[in-house]
Amino acid sequence: MTSIDVQHHALHIDGKAVDTDESMTIVNPADASVVATVAKGTASHIDDAVAAGKAAFESRVWAGKTPQERAAIMRAIADAANDAIEELVELEMSANGATVRQATGFHIGYALAHFTFFADLADTYQFVRPAPVVTFPALAQSVVHREPLGVVGAIAPWNFPLLLTLWKVGPALAAGNSVVVKPDEHTPLSMLRFAEIAEANGLPAGVLNVVPGDGRDAGARLASHPDVAKIAFTGSTQIGREIMKLASGTVKEVTLELGGKGPSIVLDDADLDLAVDGVLYGCFTYSGQICESGTRAIVPRSLHDDFVARLVERARTIAVGAPDDWDTDMGPVIDGKQQARILAYINDAVDAGAQAVIGGGVPEGEQFQRGYWVAPTILTGVDNSMPVAREEIFGPVLTVIPYDTDDEAIAIANDSEYGLAASVWTTDNGRGLAVAEQVQTGSVWINDAHQINAQVPFGGYKQSGVGRELGPDALDAYTQAKAVHVDLSGGRDAKPYDILLSHADD
Ligand code: NAD
Repeated sequence: MTSIDVQHHALHIDGKAVDTDESMTIVNPADASVVATVAKGTASHIDDAVAAGKAAFESRVWAGKTPQERAAIMRAIADAANDAIEELVELEMSANGATVRQATGFHIGYALAHFTFFADLADTYQFVRPAPVVTFPALAQSVVHREPLGVVGAIAPWNFPLLLTLWKVGPALAAGNSVVVKPDEHTPLSMLRFAEIAEANGLPAGVLNVVPGDGRDAGARLASHPDVAKIAFTGSTQIGREIMKLASGTVKEVTLELGGKGPSIVLDDADLDLAVDGVLYGCFTYSGQICESGTRAIVPRSLHDDFVARLVERARTIAVGAPDDWDTDMGPVIDGKQQARILAYINDAVDAGAQAVIGGGVPEGEQFQRGYWVAPTILTGVDNSMPVAREEIFGPVLTVIPYDTDDEAIAIANDSEYGLAASVWTTDNGRGLAVAEQVQTGSVWINDAHQINAQVPFGGYKQSGVGRELGPDALDAYTQAKAVHVDLSGGRDAKPYDILLSHADD
């Protein structure tokens, strides 16, 4: 297993490396080795970073550039980050256990492609929007300006550290804001490196600040800071509720991308070879640690046994192993706490009558004794009321739930507090679309899973979130509307001021 030299990383505030008394250790989940140490930012470092962001914003060093100038700098940053892609992949993979194929394609590949998408949006977004001229009560032309908010706070999880942070930093910068990022404790390295690359390629100091630290200290301060205009958060629903409360003190805008418990609905006309592979891809990719993972396979009772047998046969071919091996399909889970939590969900479900038809524990082999591993696990004998079917496990655990009618399948899919994403497997697109219409999730894939398209909004129904990221309107969430009304009536006599001043000439 490759390991980078154990190196110490500082916070990144106002273009400078800032060290702290306390530091955090970054651990490789594949073998529990120490990857790096990182300065641990506190609430007072957040205060410094917000002050730097505010000063940069008020100086207009970034906000005062034309959108085209911002777009050009952002493209230069994306190009330079692409030149450093191997280093970024290594930083990401060594801290969060993504396989090298996954980290190259999804984690870093998408992150940089999407950053370029936001640069392009800066070019095309209508920052100034003339409204139709009105003649009543007097001739006037109104113009709506979309203005940046000021300092935006971004709080990210560990599963896609760079991608999910750039979903916030990209539109925030495109719109002219300053940003303070609080990365997850496990995975600050790729974003710290990205900030250095950004400043080396034209982003002014103070516009992008990165402060790793504890959620309850640094994160909570950012979410409640009076000079932060908006909090963009991705993480668990539990912490999302906290963020809403913290942001309410100063009435901040929030976008929240939260948890999921995705249904994969297999209809009775599905192409089973496709559906079996698709359901496995939807659940076990990145060890099930994706918010939109399809963790509940909802399968016709008449096909159940055949489908499960096929799932098991294909799941046996998933190569679990060292993330930096290009032949590996699935790596570890993020840490020991999460490993224990996942195994407890499996054990509790088995105690309650479920069967682990494959997996069910730590994979066998000496290499899995170090680090944090859970075998791909498929549970049958599950009904939708069991915790394993209701709660987000965030690990490689697929539950299979039988149904008798399409209506029942949809009811099971919707019987969840979450509503992030769903998939439908069918050979009849009309039937697939009819089901998609009734499923209460922000994304529905027909005959696919994990399809993320930057041109299309992404986010959750119900307790999976508030607001949307990506899509052509992504800058709306990082700007505010200012309506400017210009009177064209030609003078006092054309105005309706007599409503108040009817006696002025008496
Ligand atoms: P988490 O909620 O534990 O932590 C997320 C971030 O919040 C971290 O940076 C953490 O330090 C910070 N934080 C923790 N407590 C805080 C507090 N009191 N105030 C402010 N910040 C605080 O989530 P996690 O375990 O790192 O990530 C996994 C979760 O993220 C899963 O629930 C997953 O579904 C969700 N997720 C959602 C999406 C989406 O787009 N909907 C994408 C990826 C992950």
